Amino acid sequence: MDYLLRINVFIAIISGLSSRFILPKVPDVLHPPIPDDVNTIENSMELIEDQDPEVRPGLFQGDMAMNNDIYSYWRIGLRWDIFPEKLWPNGTVPYVISPIYEPDDQVTIYKAIRTINYMSCIKFVPWDGKANDYLLIWPIKYPAGCWSFVGKSGGSQIVSLQPPDRKGSNCLGTEGRAIHELMHALGIFHEQSRWDRDKFVKVHYENIIPNFKSNFEKQSLDNTTYSYEYDYDSIMHYGKFYFSKSKGKPTMTPKLPGIKKLGQRKAMSKGDCLKLNHLYGCFDNALTRRRYYSICQMMGL
Ligand SMILES: [Zn+2]
Repeated sequence: MDYLLRINVFIAIISGLSSRFILPKVPDVLHPPIPDDVNTIENSMELIEDQDPEVRPGLFQGDMAMNNDIYSYWRIGLRWDIFPEKLWPNGTVPYVISPIYEPDDQVTIYKAIRTINYMSCIKFVPWDGKANDYLLIWPIKYPAGCWSFVGKSGGSQIVSLQPPDRKGSNCLGTEGRAIHELMHALGIFHEQSRWDRDKFVKVHYENIIPNFKSNFEKQSLDNTTYSYEYDYDSIMHYGKFYFSKSKGKPTMTPKLPGIKKLGQRKAMSKGDCLKLNHLYGCFDNALTRRRYYSICQMMGL
């Protein structure tokens, strides 16, 4: 399977790159938008150096790039009726995988894309060189780590996935981290920022690196659109130790008995799958509703 998949990836990449268009030049250092009141100071960055590659970039909520406008709405929950342009029209997402990646890493990213294409009515399609809005999946050097904008931001939109190095697998050990960042790019926020999360998790503010406390804010009830249960298994949930100021001190713990783990980065959970399909209207007609509902039940973690 992997062999065939590799061939497919190479064909997809080669046919994408050898043709009529030229990729934009992507600089090593980027300055993705960060809201003004989210401060990251140098010594805080040192504290998160050895942590999960999702918390390293020091952006909003660790791995999200977000401007002031979106941020002020985010505080009360991002509303799709106010920001319809943040959704990808017709669920179609043109993408480019950077040719800088090693073949194995390209395969991992392609697997993530193929998984979302299969589990939802969203269609990632190789960029044709013409569409104005598309995802550029690229190993940005600064800020390194795994990060993304939330929803469609317009133009060439970076999703940064740091490839493996001597220190570890970073964002490409499995397809799960790529799925997490792609889900941000599709418009999905972190699970623990739901308005009702305090019923399900306890946030230990005393253990959070002070400058990153705002990463644990939540949405208000008024604008919440989630129609699914709180999902401890979500690929969009933080782990117990994200942004912890010292080893072994959890920043978040489950409140319900019997729950051991928070979040995972292996695959979409049932809830992630349902939520994504719901957001993109995949349940709006009976045929696709049946198809994707049962795929979520069967393939979701
Ligand atoms: Zn994230």
